[in-house]
Parts: sequence; structure tokens; C-alpha cells
Amino acid sequence: MPLEIVRNDITKMSVDAIVNAANTTLLGGGGVDGAIHRAAGPQLLEECRKLHGCRTGEAKITCGYHLPCRYVIHTAGPIWQDGHHGERELLTSCYRNSLELADKYHCESVAFPLISSGVYGYPKAQALKVAMDTITQFLLDHDMTVYIVVFSKDAFEVSSKLFKDIEAYIDDVYVDEHLSAPRESMRMRLQSRYLGKAKAYDAAPEPEARSTPILAPQALLDDMLNQVDESFAQMLIRMIDEKHMTDAQCYKRANVDRRLFNKIKNIPDYKPSKQTALAFAIALELSLNETKDMLMKAGFALSHSSKADIVVEYCIMTGNYDIMEINQILFKLDLQPLGY
Ligand code: ADP
Repeated sequence: MPLEIVRNDITKMSVDAIVNAANTTLLGGGGVDGAIHRAAGPQLLEECRKLHGCRTGEAKITCGYHLPCRYVIHTAGPIWQDGHHGERELLTSCYRNSLELADKYHCESVAFPLISSGVYGYPKAQALKVAMDTITQFLLDHDMTVYIVVFSKDAFEVSSKLFKDIEAYIDDVYVDEHLSAPRESMRMRLQSRYLGKAKAYDAAPEPEARSTPILAPQALLDDMLNQVDESFAQMLIRMIDEKHMTDAQCYKRANVDRRLFNKIKNIPDYKPSKQTALAFAIALELSLNETKDMLMKAGFALSHSSKADIVVEYCIMTGNYDIMEINQILFKLDLQPLGY
């Protein structure tokens, strides 16, 4: 997946480069900076001394030493004052310059902490938005896997209004189906649903049986096999055309890796994972029915027994097709993100 939010200690990330939320001296500090220096060993500080500091918004690179990454990219984030002192632009520069440096050093995977969101006081939800927006923009024309590493879930704040709305929706549909309905009434509901159906089937005439010519079993099977529906890949390509998108626009909006997209496109029977199928539905801004149709072609269904499905359903129903925002919600709820 090109952009992924993960919960981890950044010093444990096995990537080409990790980014350090450093201060302008580059001579070490607390928070993530301290953790990185401790894990890398004293040679990191020795190399940092030779860099003669780093201005706010800029980025410099060193080796990773004892860390499991090849490089550490040091960037100095802005100190939050009131939001009217260029904080956003400076934080954007931190991400942009770090990514450009990573690209220059041929890094294929990079992990960021939430820069400035600790001691420097940048409001966390806003800091996360700057990170997501800047990285997404960069990935539009670069192939790289980028991780936003959050230390604890408490450090991670999604826009509270959206989150509350989604939680309320989950309570409505998920909790209702799973917890609050007494077993007996659930059993009755199920019984009447299926008994009702069974009766309807009993009573219904069989029009097809009369109007379809009678075929021998093998011929019938052959006939049915000749009428196989449009495949997932065919529907995907058709929808990309109908929405006047390019392939790249689609897989980037879906947060899906280019190689995976090509695999889906070129292997006719390829069945993507549910997260990937849903990611394409979001990227293509499909309606709920179209989404269900697309999922079915990959062998899946939207289910109210799955919280992740309810989140996606809610987002589609409210016209929220921002995959990064959806993934933030899924992350916050400990659910698997969309894309691959
Ligand atoms: P800043 O001074 O830029 O605010 P901090 O180090 O105080 O930097 O915090 C930046 C973010 O990094 C915070 O959200 C903090 O929770 C997080 N953080 C601290 N230690 C780690 C770590 N080991 N791995 C990942 N994130 C961390």
C-alpha cells in the first residue's frame, strides 16, 4: 500500500529511511529524536555534528547506524504558536523536503513520525492532515511506500465530528444486529424471514422452467458457463473509462500499488482482496449498489456483521470518497485499512 498508517515505535521500522522530528541544532533532544539517537548509537550524533544544523522546514540525511533502516532523514518541524505564523507551510515543507531527499537517495520505503505533534504542540488532527495531504500529493508522481508511524492510539486524533458520526452509525447498525436484539426476537425474525421465503418459493410458479428449452445436463452447464458475468477486472476497466479517469489516477486514488493494479488488469481471473476491491469502489466514487456489484465480482459482500464494512458503507452513503480519511477512521477503530 503506498501510504499506510501504522502503530509502532519508529526505531523498529525496517524501511529504507526513517524521518526524525529533530530540532534545528540536530544535536539530539527528547521525544522521537531522543529515541532515534538512543537506538542508532553515538555515531549518529557524531555525523549530525558535521551537518551544522537544519533550518525549520528543511531536511538533512545521515546513515542509520544501529537502526534497522539505511538512513535517517532529520527535519526540523515548526513550533506551534497560533496557526498564523506559517506553521502549515513549514510543516508541509518538512514532509516535502524529506520525501525529496528520500527519493534522491533511491529509498523505496520511508517512515514518518507525526512531526511537530509532540513537544512542538501542533494540534494532532491538523498535523496528521498536513502529513496525509503532502504525502498523498507526492505519491501522485512517485513510486514509494510511505508509513505514518503513530506511537500510541491516543496520539492519533481523527476529525472528531466525523469520527463521532461514524461511531453513531456503527452503534445503529452493528450493535443493533449483534448485541441489543434479544436472542429470541432475533430467532423469530430469522425464522419468519426464511419461512416466509420458503413459502413464497413453494407458491411461486416456475416460469423459466416452462419457457426455457429443455437441455441435457451437460448442454445446460455449457450454456450457463457461456453466460459468465463481467469479471472484476472488466468492471474495473469499464468504470475507469466511464468515469473518464486514467489507470494511474484510479489506482493512486485507491491507495493501491501500481504492480498490483497491473496484476489485476492482466490476469483475467485475478481475485483481489476485499480491501482492494473496496478501495477501487471508493476511488471510482461508486454508489452503494455499484459497490456491492463490484464486490460481488470479487466474491465478497458488504456485511453489517463487519464494522469495517459499516464504516465504508457510511462513507459512501454520505459521499465521503476520501480514502485517506476513511483509512484514518479504520485505523482508529483497529480495523484493516483499504488499498494494498
Ligand atoms: P516534536 O518536537 O516535533 O513535536 P516529538 O518527538 O515531541 O517531536 O513528537 C513527535 C511525535 O512523535 C509525537 O506524536 C510523539 O507521540 C511521537 N513519538 C515519540 N516517540 C516516538 C517513537 N519512538 N516512534 C514513533 N513516534 C514517536
